[in-house]
Amino acid sequence: MHPVIILGSGPAGLTAALYSARAHLKPLVVDGHEAGGQLTLTTVVENYPGFPDGLMGPDLIASMRKQAERFGATLRGGSATAVDLSRRPFRVTIDGEVEECQALIIATGASAKLLGLESERKLMGHGVSTCATCDGFFFQDQEIIVMGGGDSAMEEAIFLTKFARRVTVIHRRDKLRASKIMQEKAFQNPKIDFTWDSTLDEILDVHQGKVTGARVRNLKTTAVTERPVDGVFLAIGHTPNTQIFRGLLEMDEVGYLTTHDGTKTSVPGVFAAGDVQDRVYRQAITAAGSGCMAAIDAERFLEHAAV
Ligand code: NAP
Repeated sequence: MHPVIILGSGPAGLTAALYSARAHLKPLVVDGHEAGGQLTLTTVVENYPGFPDGLMGPDLIASMRKQAERFGATLRGGSATAVDLSRRPFRVTIDGEVEECQALIIATGASAKLLGLESERKLMGHGVSTCATCDGFFFQDQEIIVMGGGDSAMEEAIFLTKFARRVTVIHRRDKLRASKIMQEKAFQNPKIDFTWDSTLDEILDVHQGKVTGARVRNLKTTAVTERPVDGVFLAIGHTPNTQIFRGLLEMDEVGYLTTHDGTKTSVPGVFAAGDVQDRVYRQAITAAGSGCMAAIDAERFLEHAAV
């Protein structure tokens, strides 16, 4: 029996682990299928406060793990495949083994949707990015492609024009999904142009280990053209990792967990932190902040609950 189990090992889960370990709650942290979360998909992080020279995303995660372990958190591999939240102690099935806990913190994050190209995976953090706020700065005076036609794609494209020479939005249809106001802002921006009815067949060049170009396929004519670019930003949506909580916890229509009064979910004793409950900010620092909140909320819950 664990006082607290934390699902997820990105900045939200690891900060929750640090705080609950320091409160002597001996948290068990379950890594999840992408140990370390989205920070492990990036290279240099320059916007995490306290590191004026920046640091590598995987190094930041490694330091957070070490810090949580130093105070008594137990980190284990594996993923939660089922939960029983109908009564306490809650039961969590981790790769076939059942663990019990008095409070559960869900920090399973959201995964950026990808196109499914091998080159996209291989060049992630080397010119391919899923976060303009994080990586835009590295593309001063460069040519960038933004994939997607929703609000995120417009927001990222507009943001990237602060740095880039030119931003081309590539969308699979000839109409944007984004809100009218975001569309207008993007259409009026002289640095943004659009390629309609198209997708990426390949991002070049895996052999050079950096983005040098892209193969663009027109979905109507099937014509493929190659164009030189320095960066590809994917903004085709995120999927919150909440499949195992469907029907058990309140969530919005996309699957983001609903929280109230801090990090409380619809089940007392279950808390949510980080991107799994945040479709707006999605930053490492905001995830870490809400992980801290979840640990404090869990500690207060356990103080008052009849354990
Ligand atoms: P979204 O609204 O789901 O848009 C995703 C876009 O990516 C769509 O245009 C979609 O094309 C395209 N797409 C999806 N899968 C694709 C694939 N496999 N290949 C190529 N294109 C693909 O996601 P989002 O833009 O991240 O926004 C999510 C939510 O957050 C929305 O409710 C949005 O309004 C909100 N949001 C608001 C703001 C803001 O107000 N400032 C900023 C960001 C996000 P189709 O259009 O053809 O489906």
